[in-house]
Amino acid sequence: MGDKPRKLQADVAVVGSGPGGATVARELARQGKKVAILERGKNPRWTGNLLSTFFIMDKRSLLFPRGSVRVGRALTTGGSSAIYCGPAVPPPEWIKAKYQIDLGEFVEEARREIGIKPLPERLIGPAAQRIMAAARDLGFNWNPMDKFIDPEKCELKCPHCMLGCSKGAIWNARKSIEEAVGLGATLVNQALVQEVLRENGRATGVSALTPHGPLRVEARVTVLAAGGMATPLLLRRAGLTEAGQGLFVDPLIITYGNCKGLCSGRDIPMTAGTVEFAPEGIIMTDLAYPWAFYLLNAYWKGWRYVPKVLGYNSTIGIMTKVRDALGGRVNPDGTVSKTITDEDRQKLEKGAAMAEKILKRAGADPRSIYTSPVGAAHPGGTVRIGQGVDSDLQTPIQNLYVCDTSIIPEPLGLPPVWTLIAFGKRLARKLASAV
Ligand SMILES: Cc1cc2nc3c(=O)[nH]c(=O)nc-3n(C[C@H](O)[C@H](O)[C@H](O)COP(=O)(O)OP(=O)(O)OC[C@H]3O[C@@H](n4cnc5c(N)ncnc54)[C@H](O)[C@@H]3O)c2cc1C
Repeated sequence: MGDKPRKLQADVAVVGSGPGGATVARELARQGKKVAILERGKNPRWTGNLLSTFFIMDKRSLLFPRGSVRVGRALTTGGSSAIYCGPAVPPPEWIKAKYQIDLGEFVEEARREIGIKPLPERLIGPAAQRIMAAARDLGFNWNPMDKFIDPEKCELKCPHCMLGCSKGAIWNARKSIEEAVGLGATLVNQALVQEVLRENGRATGVSALTPHGPLRVEARVTVLAAGGMATPLLLRRAGLTEAGQGLFVDPLIITYGNCKGLCSGRDIPMTAGTVEFAPEGIIMTDLAYPWAFYLLNAYWKGWRYVPKVLGYNSTIGIMTKVRDALGGRVNPDGTVSKTITDEDRQKLEKGAAMAEKILKRAGADPRSIYTSPVGAAHPGGTVRIGQGVDSDLQTPIQNLYVCDTSIIPEPLGLPPVWTLIAFGKRLARKLASAV
């Protein structure tokens, strides 16, 4: 016989603590609602440490992609935002124009609360400055980008955003979770949610596995926010068989070149870039992966690229990220199958060609320039508005909602976090009057 499940009762059960779930949890906790947050990952403190960052990453789709593009995500409090670089791009216009969902008020509220703005010039590192000057010389509209970073706490010589910010300068979803817990919400780490509980066709909570045995959370409303790769699995188990068919991942490449005296890996990453090609699905910014991830990527590109790591300290890089076609699926084990179409590849190649020009202009040795293999970090669109959820983010099962990248109705091609915060605030306002 198995252990008797422990029980928790709440107004709202939130599954997953990434930007979508964390925002809903915090907003409802602010309204005095009883919130339980179930997070499958641990809650480690890690600051600027490559190894511990690697441990919180989901290794399956990254290291063993099974014929698919590699998709990175983090499994920890704060979700993937715990390891992001913090550039902030507001939701695209088409969400309002095409789906009649007006996020404007919530976007502005987030801007004010978090203090989203570009970093001042003093925090834009030497490599990023050189890239920006070269891009502008060539006629690109290349500018400092909005960031989820508090410039007063940020330091120029600290490039560790992706490894956990030890200065507390970067906003990520952990901050919202901490606030929610401070207001009385319950956070259960290492709680792997297995099933949505149902009675008479309504969701009544979730069941989870924890190191201390099974856990049953009974709630008036359940919000799935386990991310674009995990939420569809929970919905499929609840009988919604279409969930997880078709996804976008915003594929990306980085074009690198050696440039004496400059190293993008020592700059604060992604401080400036261009969105002038966003309408055709291409955005670009300065970026080099931290050296160990750089080495891994060089290895994925091919053995002969591995020695490139020796020149890491004089390497500058430009990331190209593109809007891909919906395609592939989430597999039953939570990995994804996703290939790059010819159209996606053309966009990536166009970005790489522009990056090469900029790098050369910036002074990079033309013979050293190469482009990384395709990767991705924005899985979404797997439970789309209009298909898997309605415009209020409710599933066909009453009292069961989704608030993560799954709901984004079309390929985005942009950093999704600001969009998710806005959706989370909008959903919380609706739920606050319902529970
Ligand atoms: C390396 C990297 C860099 C990025 N850079 C940027 C950037 O600069 N700007 C930007 O806007 N976006 C960026 N992103 C993307 C952004 O972080 C994600 O789009 C965002 O975090 C998605 O939020 P979410 O709420 O959908 O889910 P997630 O952040 O994926 O969070 C979901 C959470 O649910 C948990 N979970 C999963 N399954 C279960 C389960 N069964 N039970 C309980 N818990 C579960 C997971 O552990 C996870 O913590 C980056 C992503 C990565 C990986």
